[in-house]
Amino acid sequence: MSAPNGALAEIQARKNAAAHAWQRNTEDITLIAVSKTFDTEAIRPVLDAGQRHFGENRVQEAQKKWPSLKADYDAIQLHLLGPLQSNKVKEAVALFDVIHSLDRAKLATALAAEQDKMASTASAGFPSLFIQVNTGAEPQKAGVLPQEAPAFIDTCRALGLPIIGLMCIPPVDEAPAPHFALLANLARASGVTGLSMGMSDDFEIAIAQGATHIRVGRALFGERSSATL
Ligand SMILES: *Cc1c(COP(=O)(O)O)cnc(C)c1O
Repeated sequence: MSAPNGALAEIQARKNAAAHAWQRNTEDITLIAVSKTFDTEAIRPVLDAGQRHFGENRVQEAQKKWPSLKADYDAIQLHLLGPLQSNKVKEAVALFDVIHSLDRAKLATALAAEQDKMASTASAGFPSLFIQVNTGAEPQKAGVLPQEAPAFIDTCRALGLPIIGLMCIPPVDEAPAPHFALLANLARASGVTGLSMGMSDDFEIAIAQGATHIRVGRALFGERSSATL
């Protein structure tokens, strides 16, 4: 039996309503519960309510929290949303089912090398990958520039990487809809179907623009105390 969770039920209801309004199937939109900065005791009630997709920003934090939770709950799908350093690739690949932050050639090369290593040892599944696009061309933000995205997608495909879609984080001070539309257009042009876009404040707008993965943190877990994330 799953124990109801009010915040989760409310997000699911809003997701269902947005999907319905835009004549989409809500099952085609994966809700990722972004649990960064929250400890396992805050995460367990959301797992008890049946949620299985979770997002984290840091490899080290996830390594502390998720092995024990994975031992207690079946079918958890863990998503890495934050920047990934090349020297953390091995750990990230071992822990995460999906990585949303592939954003540069050096990282693509490191991921491909790890994939080749795993293939030769027949170890467990390699994560699916989203390419992060810096739709606002913000200097401080990760991601390939929109005009560089098609060539980078080709590069990743040539390396044999399992690219399933594109991800973006729009500038905080701009309307998100044009950024989501740009990401959808880039994905369509390159023949990738996944769209990781939309957070607590704008996931309904992202659903309208075709999001397949929405990443919701504060609306589920409450405000984060840490100023760093
Ligand atoms: C923190 C974070 C989220 C969740 O943001 P909220 O505003 O808490 O919903 C989603 N995506 C990424 C990449 C994040 O870093």
